[in-house]
Amino acid sequence: MPELPEVETIRKDLTKVLNRTFVGLWTDTKKIIKKDFKIFKKTIKGAKIKRIERKGKNLIFSLSNDYYLLIHLKLTGYLLYDQLPKNQYLRVIFYLDNKKTLALSDLRKFAKIELLSKKELTEILSKIGPDPLEISFEEFKGILPKKGNIKKVLMNQKIISGIGNIYADEILWESKIHPLKDISLVEKKILFKNIKQVLKKGIKLRGASVSDYKDLQGEKGTFDQKRKVYRKEGRPCPRCQKKIERIKINNRSSHFCSFCQKL
Ligand SMILES: [Zn+2]
Repeated sequence: MPELPEVETIRKDLTKVLNRTFVGLWTDTKKIIKKDFKIFKKTIKGAKIKRIERKGKNLIFSLSNDYYLLIHLKLTGYLLYDQLPKNQYLRVIFYLDNKKTLALSDLRKFAKIELLSKKELTEILSKIGPDPLEISFEEFKGILPKKGNIKKVLMNQKIISGIGNIYADEILWESKIHPLKDISLVEKKILFKNIKQVLKKGIKLRGASVSDYKDLQGEKGTFDQKRKVYRKEGRPCPRCQKKIERIKINNRSSHFCSFCQKL
């Protein structure tokens, strides 16, 4: 699933569509669009894209007609600008006034595109935790629950938004914190620093393409070539050479080094 660095890479590249106007829409998968398709199509037609922001894994388009598009790519979605490759899983195509297209490719069809009023958007965003790149250590400390294993906390979008399985494993390895640990204040400080560092590195490398993720141009990110533990079970830990282990937490695999990350 695209996480914060992948979605941020897309957001930055989307400056290409700023001030463009929607002129048409096509889909073969209406369930992705969370509104009556005809109303959706009519409402966006003629609307200009004024701003594109991100909170966690959500992309938010502000339109000139005071509506908002909220796009969540979920498991296998990605956006493509000015290309409509064949043999891809194209689900939605926005036609723009410069004769170019913004398309959603999505193998699993879990992505969602919502058309919202300001009030509806505010309500949805208020249920999502703060973006880790936007907060101070004081705020971070304040949102962490008193108890609970840290991997689960990091992945909980209601507590903090944008971190998924790949970056959570990498952040915890960098921090030398076991994924099942209940962490101390000192560890919170280390964790906070590494959250920012690992996510920023992910952005710099234009995301991870371990799964389906591609950027707006259809290119893969290169973070996964630099990852240390995620899906590296049985391979040597880059720090101590002990074999990377895998456990299940919340039905998801967690990869860690039991020597560097003690419980
Ligand atoms: Zn190790």
